Amino acid sequence: MATKVLIVDDAAFMRMMIKDILTKNEFEVVAEAADGQQAIELYKEHSPDLVTMDITMPEMDGITSLKEIRKMDADAKVIMCSAMGQQAMVIDAIQAGAKDFIVKPFQAERVLEAINKTLG
Ligand SMILES: [Mg+2]
Repeated sequence: MATKVLIVDDAAFMRMMIKDILTKNEFEVVAEAADGQQAIELYKEHSPDLVTMDITMPEMDGITSLKEIRKMDADAKVIMCSAMGQQAMVIDAIQAGAKDFIVKPFQAERVLEAINKTLG
């Protein structure tokens, strides 16, 4: 069975970029969320194997959402998506349980490396 992924990013273009990389590599994108609160709801609904989580989003940011998801599921596998200059937030996210991070603009090779390492 294909690995189920939930993509979280407030920018539709970024979601599309990541979805394109994933679907070309046999992953199944089960849902897309545009903010952290929606991510929590969709996580409950779909129990994905993996989440790609943007950091900066309106309503609820990615680090808060990550923490809430980890409270529901201590085994949740979440990879953070960061922009240049967000090192401090990436460190916060890793301390909150994120497995790895990828930096925008996404490179397919690096995205797949992070995913494969996380799924281990
Ligand atoms: Mg964003």
